[in-house]
Amino acid sequence: MKFEILKKDKNTDARAGTISLPHGKVETPSFVPVGTQASVKALSPQELKEIEVQIFFGNTYHLYLRPGAAIIQELGGIHKFMGWDGPIMTDSGGFQVFSLGLGKLKLKIEKEKLKIAGRYETPYENASPVCAGKLDPSVPIRRLRMTFKESKTGKNQFLAEFAEEGVRFKSHLDGSEHFLTPEKSIQIQKQLGADIILAFDDCTPYPVDYAYAELSMERTHRWAERSLKEFKRLRTKTKAGLRPQFLASGQSLYGVIQGSTFEDLRKKSARFIDALGTEGIAIGGMAVGESKKLMYKTLEWTIPELEEEKPRHLLGVGEVDDIFEAVERGVDTLDCVTPTRLARHKNLFVHPKIAALEKSKSRFNLIITNAKYAADKSPVDPLCQCVVCQNYSRAYLHHLYKSNEILGVRLGTYHNLYFLVSLMKQIREAIADNRFQRLKQEWLV
Ligand SMILES: [Zn+2]
Repeated sequence: MKFEILKKDKNTDARAGTISLPHGKVETPSFVPVGTQASVKALSPQELKEIEVQIFFGNTYHLYLRPGAAIIQELGGIHKFMGWDGPIMTDSGGFQVFSLGLGKLKLKIEKEKLKIAGRYETPYENASPVCAGKLDPSVPIRRLRMTFKESKTGKNQFLAEFAEEGVRFKSHLDGSEHFLTPEKSIQIQKQLGADIILAFDDCTPYPVDYAYAELSMERTHRWAERSLKEFKRLRTKTKAGLRPQFLASGQSLYGVIQGSTFEDLRKKSARFIDALGTEGIAIGGMAVGESKKLMYKTLEWTIPELEEEKPRHLLGVGEVDDIFEAVERGVDTLDCVTPTRLARHKNLFVHPKIAALEKSKSRFNLIITNAKYAADKSPVDPLCQCVVCQNYSRAYLHHLYKSNEILGVRLGTYHNLYFLVSLMKQIREAIADNRFQRLKQEWLV
């Protein structure tokens, strides 16, 4: 990987540059759409190219469970498997097992009023470890937290256990038990073969107390060291021709920063991960329940501690206002399910001027199934240049969505992604011309 900073904004910490990767260049700041199952939902790789998406984000947890990393490797790696020859990044699986343990549980609680029987404040407790799926009661491990959900029968169902060695979890697909460690996460990501891969981290839930956040951060640091060690080991062996099953060469590893919303922990974590020597830095544990204001503050504590020369990726953040605030504080890339998920839920992006004209509740999108669009001849966003806005009316999209036609979600997703890719282009141009703040003011009125 080669990262070049081409321009720094005079008035903010925003910067524009390029990341050169084995499968092509990424212009930064860049939005990285999420393609969880080696597919950006509803769009083909050819359409992603048309939209000028430069890189997307695959989820190790999902691909490991289905179809399995070995199958993808056998078929030539993730690029060949899905017919996309551009850059890809994968996460470590850490966030997904975290979601399994907490995020989804919260959703379930809201929907079904289930109770949490989890106990996370039992650090350093002895428990039976599981290695490679097998119980080995002779080795004590230190447990950070376990999560359960209470089933209808009143019995607790095990979801995930976070321990020093790794995370034991149950597959959401078939209930089978798995054990993910930093080493295993790197091995899987090597097999998948993305251009950028992530160190395995313990995504700290929110809110937690200081002691818990510190334990979780320290574990993330130990896991980052183990991830890097495994990454180097496999690279050396691949070069020596000893491990041909780990084919991907030219991969870059990003370390992940945690530290919850505590200033000294975030700074400590940033310094630690920065000094590790990974090629890029990812900022994790954000947008997990804290306020936007606190998220921006946390970025302000974190980023100044980082070396300028490394690219910085913000994990799981990507609403329009967040994009501006993150870029302003020096973030280079960020990934989020927002554009694709919103499109599936009838929310289509529009410029804030259009949203104001439409009296939309949201500053950046409108709900296409709203009755007022049933006979509306205008495009979704009259300011958008995408194929959808050039060819179809709101009325047609309204009809497709109302009729549950697959094309509705496809066109909606196409527009939403185009909208964000085009916004990032405008942001890069604004940084180049030293007018980033003016552009931000235009958008965030
Ligand atoms: Zn459009």
